[in-house]
Amino acid sequence: MKLLRYAIGDERYVGVLVGDEIMRLGISSMAELMGADTAFVETGILDNLAEARILPPLLPGKILAIGRNYAEHARELGNEAPTEPLVFAVMPSAVIGDGDVIEWETDLTTQVDWEGELAVIIGKTARKVSQDEALDYVFGYTIANDVSARDLQQRDKQWTRAKGLDTFCPLGPFVVTADEMPDPQRLGIVTKVDGVEKQNGSTADMIFDVPFLIAHLSRAFTLSPGDIILTGTPSGVGKAQKPPQFLGDGSVVSVEIEGIGKLTNRCRVV
Ligand code: MG
Repeated sequence: MKLLRYAIGDERYVGVLVGDEIMRLGISSMAELMGADTAFVETGILDNLAEARILPPLLPGKILAIGRNYAEHARELGNEAPTEPLVFAVMPSAVIGDGDVIEWETDLTTQVDWEGELAVIIGKTARKVSQDEALDYVFGYTIANDVSARDLQQRDKQWTRAKGLDTFCPLGPFVVTADEMPDPQRLGIVTKVDGVEKQNGSTADMIFDVPFLIAHLSRAFTLSPGDIILTGTPSGVGKAQKPPQFLGDGSVVSVEIEGIGKLTNRCRVV
């Protein structure tokens, strides 16, 4: 299933994508689909996708992110490939949906960069799970843009502000449920800025794959339904271009992942 949260006028819904239409479900949040034996009710009402305003697929509890999880990306920014996952956290308040605006003030940052990533949505409480069982804890997959203020990232020495500014975590538009994606390690990821391709990678090239990341993170934290893991970005970020390129007022950035869809956001400097 491809699930989405959306609004028509002031009303918010969760639905299943059926071609160009959305089958409205009788639930109010994606969380109701997680956990034990929750069945959903199809209302029989179909909405037109073109008339729906897409919302972030969920409002995550924790967002755990992995840095430098693609060797070529580590290299392009002059870093060694890590020998264990480089874990950081992103503020849940940074989340926006497909079609929402990424915005920032120039007195905070002038070096805003893109990072297209596969996002894993946890569906069951996971604590100290093995790699073999890790994928059983996945609810589904969506697309993220781990938008990064490179100047803050460098200046702060850690990444809380650089990657956690309001609007800096676009997510969506759809969640592909785990049963439809048994192998998350063979998906193409393409990021474009104003229609020009910047990143073209494959999740096959992750240094630490999704089962490894879930096992590793669940040794440190209890993973809860609705938590999200950002799995790292392939090479081709703006800072590594020659000369470096960054997003600006009016830039349109899209991240497309095979089998999931395309996440598109416009930028505004305020
Ligand atoms: Mg990233």
